[in-house]
Amino acid sequence: MEFTLSTEQKMIQDLCRNFIKNEIKPLAEEMDRNGQFPYEVWKKMGDLGIVGIPIPEEYGGGGLDWLSMIIAIEEISRGDASLGVSLLDSVTLPMNLLDTFGTEEQKQKWLIPLASGEKIGAFGLTEAQAGSDASAIQTRAVLEGDEWVINGTKQFITNAGLRHNSLVIIAAVTGEGEGPRKRISNIIVPTGVGGFYFGDKYRKMGWKASETRELIFDECRVPKENMLGQPEKGFAQFMMALQTSRIGFAAHSLGLAQAIFNVSLAYAKEREQFGKSISKFQAIQFKLADMLMEIELARLMVYKAAWQKDQGENYFATSTLAKIFASETSKRCADQGVQIHGGYGVMDEYPISRYWREVKFDEILDGTSEIQRLNIAKRVLKL
Ligand SMILES: Cc1cc2nc3c(=O)[nH]c(=O)nc-3n(C[C@H](O)[C@H](O)[C@H](O)COP(=O)(O)OP(=O)(O)OC[C@H]3O[C@@H](n4cnc5c(N)ncnc54)[C@H](O)[C@@H]3O)c2cc1C
Repeated sequence: MEFTLSTEQKMIQDLCRNFIKNEIKPLAEEMDRNGQFPYEVWKKMGDLGIVGIPIPEEYGGGGLDWLSMIIAIEEISRGDASLGVSLLDSVTLPMNLLDTFGTEEQKQKWLIPLASGEKIGAFGLTEAQAGSDASAIQTRAVLEGDEWVINGTKQFITNAGLRHNSLVIIAAVTGEGEGPRKRISNIIVPTGVGGFYFGDKYRKMGWKASETRELIFDECRVPKENMLGQPEKGFAQFMMALQTSRIGFAAHSLGLAQAIFNVSLAYAKEREQFGKSISKFQAIQFKLADMLMEIELARLMVYKAAWQKDQGENYFATSTLAKIFASETSKRCADQGVQIHGGYGVMDEYPISRYWREVKFDEILDGTSEIQRLNIAKRVLKL
C-alpha cells in the first residue's frame, strides 16, 4: 500500500495551493457578494493546465491521472466553492463523456476547447419531474432527416449560460419504453444554436458565482452527428460519468471541510475569553480534533476512489461512500466551525458564515445522500 503522492500529484497540489492563495482567496468574498463568475481566473486556470488534467494531451489536457484532478478539485474548492463546482462539473461530466464516448471529430471540435480552459461545459439531465428519478426525463429528440429535433426543459444546470459556455450534453428520450427501459441518448447541443434558450440565473443561498440555469429546447435542431456514443445507451453512459462526478463532489466537500478547519483553528487560537485563548478549552479542542479526524478519513476515501478509477478497478462503492461521508463531514465541520466562532460565526465578514451556506449543496447534487445510501443498499449490499 502506498500513501505518498507522486511527483506530478504533489506538483499539482502545490500549484493549486499557490494559485488559490494568490488568485482565488482574495476574491472569494467579493464573488459571494456580486455573484459574478471570474472569467480571468478561469482563463489562468486553463493556462496553468488545471482544467483538463486527466484528458489526453492531444485533446488539450494534461494527460495525468484522475487522482491529480481530484486533488486539484479539492484545492480549488478550498479556495472557492463556486469555482470548485464549475471545475468539477466541466471535467467529470462533459469532458469525461466526450473523452470516453466521443468520436475523433467530436473530440477535436468540442473536447480541446474545454480541456484547455478556453471554454466551459455543462451537463443537462435534471428536469422538473426528473430529479432523483433520472429515468423520468421527458425531453425528447426526434431524428428528422439529418437533424435531431429537440423539445423539452432541463432545470438546475451548472455552468449553463456562462459567457464561455460552449455546449451542454443533454440526456434525451430517443425511443419508446417506460421507466428504466426508456431509450435515452446523449446529445451535444452547442450554445447559440436556434431553439435553445437559457432561463434566468437561479438565486441560490451559496455558490453564487457558479451559474445555474434552466435550459429550454423549442424545436431545437442539431446535426445527427451530435449524438454522443451509441444511440439509446445514454443512460449507462451518463451513469458512468456521474460515478466520476461523485468523486469530484466528494473532493469539493473535502476542500470546503479543510477550509472550515483552517479558519476555525486560527480563530480558536486568536479569540480570548475568561482571560485565555478559547483553544485552551477542552470543549473547543474536541471539536477541532473531531474535524481533523473526519477530514483525514474523508480524504482517504476520496483519494482511494480516484485511485481505483485510475487502476481501472470498480469504484462504485468507494465513490458513493466517499460522497456521502465527505459531504456530511463538511456539513458537520461547518456547524462546529460556526459554533467555535460564536456570534461572529453568523456575520458576513467571517468566511465561516459563507462556508456554512455552501456545504449543504453537496448532500443534494449528483444524487442526494438518501439516493446514495439506497445505491449502496441495492448494488453493494444486494438488499
Ligand atoms: C445548484 C444546483 C446545481 C445543479 N446542477 C446540475 C447539473 O449541472 N446538471 C443536472 O442534470 N442536474 C443538476 N442539479 C440537479 C441535482 O442533481 C438534483 O437537484 C438532485 O439530483 C436531486 O433532485 P431533486 O432536486 O429533484 O430532488 P428530489 O428527487 O425531488 O428529492 C427530494 C427529496 O426526496 C428524497 N428522495 C427522492 N427519491 C427518494 C427515494 N426513492 N427514497 C428516499 N428518498 C428519496 C431525496 O433524497 C430528497 O431528500 C443541480 C442542482 C442544484 C441545486
